[in-house]
Amino acid sequence: MQKDSLWQAVLGEIELSVSRGNFLTWFKSTQLLSHDDTTVTVGVPNVFIKQQLERKYNDLISVTLAKNGLNPITIEYKISPLSTTTRAPQFDEPIFVTTTNQEPAGSGAVRASTNNSFSHSYRQGINERYTFDNFIVGAGNELAFAACQSIAQLPGNKYNPLFLYGGVGIGKTHLIQAVGNAISKQNPAAKVLYISTEQFVQEFVDALRFRKTADFASYYRTADVLIVDDIQFIAGKEKMQEEFFHTFNALHQGNRQIIISSDKPPKEIATLEERLRSRFAWGMSIDMQNPDFETRCAIVQTKAQEHDMVLPTDVVEYLATNVQTNIRELEGALNQLLAFCEMRALEPSLEIVSSLLGVSKTRPKHLSAKQIIERTARHFQIPMEEIMGPKRDKDIVVPRQIAMYMLRSELHLSFPKIARELGRKDHTTAIHSVEKIEKESREDAGLRHTLSEIKERLYA
Ligand code: ADP
Ligand code: MG
Repeated sequence: MQKDSLWQAVLGEIELSVSRGNFLTWFKSTQLLSHDDTTVTVGVPNVFIKQQLERKYNDLISVTLAKNGLNPITIEYKISPLSTTTRAPQFDEPIFVTTTNQEPAGSGAVRASTNNSFSHSYRQGINERYTFDNFIVGAGNELAFAACQSIAQLPGNKYNPLFLYGGVGIGKTHLIQAVGNAISKQNPAAKVLYISTEQFVQEFVDALRFRKTADFASYYRTADVLIVDDIQFIAGKEKMQEEFFHTFNALHQGNRQIIISSDKPPKEIATLEERLRSRFAWGMSIDMQNPDFETRCAIVQTKAQEHDMVLPTDVVEYLATNVQTNIRELEGALNQLLAFCEMRALEPSLEIVSSLLGVSKTRPKHLSAKQIIERTARHFQIPMEEIMGPKRDKDIVVPRQIAMYMLRSELHLSFPKIARELGRKDHTTAIHSVEKIEKESREDAGLRHTLSEIKERLYA
């Protein structure tokens, strides 16, 4: 049999025994380079596919070859540029090319399987919910969207770093995580790291404390794609900036993609080292704006559809007109409406939405922010000064986060207001805290219990 048709027969059988995703990722762009009695040589496009085939699929390939009349003693996988023809356009050259050179021949270590001792339970990673597909594009975010898509197709190449900045709740995190998701989907072995700057700093502090800075450095400096969210938090943290500077250089030199988000442009981040500022300007900086009215309407309608609801136009327009701060708030208002209607088996209408949005602003009149903070502090038996103060100990930080969560859930305060109530300047801390408690309370019954206890006392 011809090499090609032989390999097509082998692939045809393999296709039947692995999932479609696995087939497309690992097998589709392979080819048979040569074979004799002892050795079959398979051409593969990159080192990740090579390693995956060697480690995971070698037996399957061997058995399938045998069925087609070949019984080699060894199967060799060789990185071969020819086998790039059928795969996604040029995807992995820019970011993997140096990897291939660095990897010692026959090395079994897959870099992406981060069997690194440096791991942290609080690292959040990427949320699969954030994709390009469910991101609505319109005036305000279209440039950012286009840049992110182009990065997903060709990471490390064109816009490096990408620096996305804009106000809170307008889709920065969604978009930069969508890049990560798209890249991971195309190449599951790529080491795509997403980290919020707060976590980044916390990990670095821990690394210093436990003398693990070398692990920390090697973990981040071997990323294929590094996504750092809310970089404004690096302001004033000199050692962290120094560390990030080196990470940045290592990745950039290796053509690894770097994506950064911030609530303001680099030049407005106070106490950002000049050399980092200039690095951030190397690639592309894009300003994201709150989307225009039409886009906001489209977002509301799409999010409603995700809940299997189609909203009347007047309801959509009411929301898009009345919640103009940002998309997060808009989504919150929509969810409130949907929950209200669902519980009472009502169809959403203009009457309902207008009374609901009107009411929710005034509802908890009898409760003040101060009462909520006091109640939370008392629950954890810590003094008010501590919860309002600068301390970062865990037994103070968690109650503080819970207080922020309560201010949000009970008083619907805006994030900047929540931050101010707790004596904080930066509202992104409030966002992270509320999101963290929301997320953890879904998984942690103990925390849910704590929250309802505090609430009960509040309303008692
Ligand atoms: P940021 O990081 O800028 O503060 P996020 O990315 O967290 O904002 O966005 C807040 C919420 O709004 C998320 O739930 C996100 O999915 C949603 N969102 C923002 N922009 C869009 C958009 N254009 N299309 C769909 N959802 C969006
Ligand atoms: Mg964000």
